[in-house]
Amino acid sequence: MSEIETTKVAIIGSGPAGWTAAIYAARANMAPIIFEGLQPGGQLTITTEVENYPGFPEGVQGPDLMLQFKAQAMRFDTTCYSENITKVDFSSRPFKIWSESREVQAETIIIATGATAKYLGLPGEEQYYNKGISACATCDGFFFRGKDVIVIGGGDSAVEEATFLTRFCNEVTLVHRRDELRASKIMAKRALEHESLKIRWNSSVTGYRGDENGVVCAVVFKDTVTGEEEEVAVQGVFMGIGHKPNTEIFDGILEMDEAGYLVTKANNTYTNVDGVFACGDVQDTVYRQAITASGTGCMAAIDAERWLEAQES
Ligand code: NAP
Repeated sequence: MSEIETTKVAIIGSGPAGWTAAIYAARANMAPIIFEGLQPGGQLTITTEVENYPGFPEGVQGPDLMLQFKAQAMRFDTTCYSENITKVDFSSRPFKIWSESREVQAETIIIATGATAKYLGLPGEEQYYNKGISACATCDGFFFRGKDVIVIGGGDSAVEEATFLTRFCNEVTLVHRRDELRASKIMAKRALEHESLKIRWNSSVTGYRGDENGVVCAVVFKDTVTGEEEEVAVQGVFMGIGHKPNTEIFDGILEMDEAGYLVTKANNTYTNVDGVFACGDVQDTVYRQAITASGTGCMAAIDAERWLEAQES
C-alpha cells in the first residue's frame, strides 16, 4: 500500500457519468481522483459505432468517445488510477475508499460504477457482440434497418426495445421463456396489440449460428414446454433480460432498490449518505443512455461542490 492520499472528491467509475463528473469537478478546482476500474470507459467500450451522442454528426466509435472524455478530464487537474475500488467506509468524513494498492480519503464521493447488461451466457456468445448481438436497441437498432431480429426477455426493457425496433426492422419477434409477460400492464398491452410485433412464447435461445463473416445469421430456439429445438434465420439478437447495477461494494452501506440500483433523491444525485453522490446507470433504471449518464455526472459534480462549500462555510 502506498501513502494515504486525500482529495476533495473521489470518483468511482469511468463511463460517461464518471468522466463528466471529473471534467466538472476538475474545472471547479476540486482536483478529483478518479478510479477508472478494470474496464475503463464502461459499457461504451464494448460498443462500436455511436451515432446518437450529440456533437458527432458522422458518428464516433464508443472506445474513441471514452478516450476523448478522459483526455478532456486529464487536461485539467485530474488524477486517474486504473484500479478497482474494493472496499469503502462511508461511516464518517473524510470517507475512505481502498483499491488493491492504495487508500484514498475524500471529502465527497461520486459513484459512477454503472450497470452491466445481462447476456444469456451461452458458449461462444461473446464472439457475436457487435456482430449481430446487442444489448441496446436505442444505440444499435438503426444498424438493423430492414432486417429480421429477435428481442429476448419479457419485461419492460424487452418490450420497449422490441417496440422501438419495429420502426426499423423488417420483422421483430419478442422471445419469452414463459407464456406471460413480466412487463407492466400498459407495456404488455402495447406489445400484445402491436400489429408488427410477433411474440414467441415458451421459447429460449440455446445457440447462435454465424455466417462466413462471423456475423449472426440464425439462432436455435428451444421450446421450454416440449423441449423441441428449431433453427430460425435472424440477423439480429437483442438482449432485453435486464441489467445488473455494479453496487456490490455498497451493500448495507447505501440505500438501494430491490434490483440493487442506488437510490438518489428526486431531481438531484444525493444518496442517503450526505456527501456521497451517485450518477449514471448505477442509479438509472429508465434512460440508460450515454448522454443522460453524462448529464447526471455533471449534476453530481455540481452537487458535490455545492455540498462541500456549504459544509465549509
Ligand atoms: P426485468 O423486469 O427483470 O425483466 C427481465 C426479463 O428477462 C424477464 O421477463 C425474465 O423472464 C427475462 N429473463 C431473465 N433472465 C433470462 C434468461 N437467462 N433467459 C431468458 N429470459 C430471461 O428487467 P427489465 O425489463 O430490464 O426491467 C428492470 C426494471 O426497470 C423494472 O422495474 C422495469 O419496470 C424498469 N423499466 C422501466 C421502463 C419504463 O418504464 N419505460 C423501461 C425499462 C425498464 P421471467 O419473466 O421469466 O423472469
